[in-house]
Amino acid sequence: MKISDVTCAHCGALYLLAESASVDSSPVDGPTGNEACTICGKTFASRSDGKLRAFRFVMSPAARSARAPISP
Ligand SMILES: [Zn+2]
Repeated sequence: MKISDVTCAHCGALYLLAESASVDSSPVDGPTGNEACTICGKTFASRSDGKLRAFRFVMSPAARSARAPISP
């Protein structure tokens, strides 16, 4: 399984993507199509290429920007 992070191009929300290639020719179970962003609702990734993918929401764009200044 391959793990990588994906950022929504529309709002900047951060997701973790777990991707596993299908080992046989049978169609993967689970829904296929476009993955909609939890924050902005727009499509930020598609999973129509036969690979099984799981997205986990990590951080909202507001939380990412709030992390920038480090307060004591
Ligand atoms: Zn988004």
